[in-house]
Amino acid sequence: ISSTHYVGRFAPSPTGPLHFGSLIAALASYLDAKAHNGTWLVRMEDIDAPRCIAGADKQILDCLAAHELIWDGKVRYQSAHLGDYDKVLAVLRSQQVLYACQCTRKQIKSTGGVYTGTCRELGLAESGNALRFKCDQPVTTFNDNLLGPVEITDPHALEDTVLRRRDGLHSYNLVVVADDIAQGVNHIVRGSDLLATTAAHLTLYRQLGEQPPAYAHIPVAATSSGRKLSKQNHARPLDNRHALNNLQQALTFLGFADIASNHTTTASLLSAAINAWQYNSVPKQHEIIVDGAESTY
Ligand code: GLU
Repeated sequence: ISSTHYVGRFAPSPTGPLHFGSLIAALASYLDAKAHNGTWLVRMEDIDAPRCIAGADKQILDCLAAHELIWDGKVRYQSAHLGDYDKVLAVLRSQQVLYACQCTRKQIKSTGGVYTGTCRELGLAESGNALRFKCDQPVTTFNDNLLGPVEITDPHALEDTVLRRRDGLHSYNLVVVADDIAQGVNHIVRGSDLLATTAAHLTLYRQLGEQPPAYAHIPVAATSSGRKLSKQNHARPLDNRHALNNLQQALTFLGFADIASNHTTTASLLSAAINAWQYNSVPKQHEIIVDGAESTY
């Protein structure tokens, strides 16, 4: 019995409408939170303003509501918290674990693709350069609630990660940790495409002296061509008129086919799924191929 109240979240980027792959992440995080009598937050990850699409946030929230995935409290928008991210940077700066880097993506690519700390000792000015986290001892292992013990060996995930980009935008790795700390999130359920980034996140928690959350990385939906369903490859937007059917398919994907077929309303389906939810049923796979979810137009 845990004395800490469960706080989970779904954190979509408003770069387009939700698709089947996003529904799986939304549903799994929702079910795990509700199965633990927890709070389920929704956070709009609109930090990368150039990639955001006006109105996509509203469309995402409407879509969640149509699927009766109702969040607790107010939706947090990252764009409203830039000062908070600067405060976290200030803490890291005072710990002397930040440095400016002038390397371009192209230069890093030409030397093998993994950043090896070229600018660490150059003492470059911050302005006009990227800010990196000096990662001397990355956290490389953790216990995933679905996958069990995980070891991250991907050198990209263990390099000195960028916390503020050259263009001044805060990076995903910085804001996701800053937000989860600020919101008291203690359980993260998300797609396994983010598994390797967990190493950088855990390293930041340790650096900031914060208790890290528990993680569960669920399989991602991929197309038969082997690509993760994403807005970038034009995954078909969810049709809100077929909410029950969409949820049934998402539940089947997550290993609960027996429940999926037995319900005629979204509400009864979700309440049965909350009761049945357990990681033993969820496939321990990096990705699962789904047919017909990729847009053909
Ligand atoms: N915003 C991220 C995405 O849409 C998810 C972040 C997370 O769950 O940590 O892929």
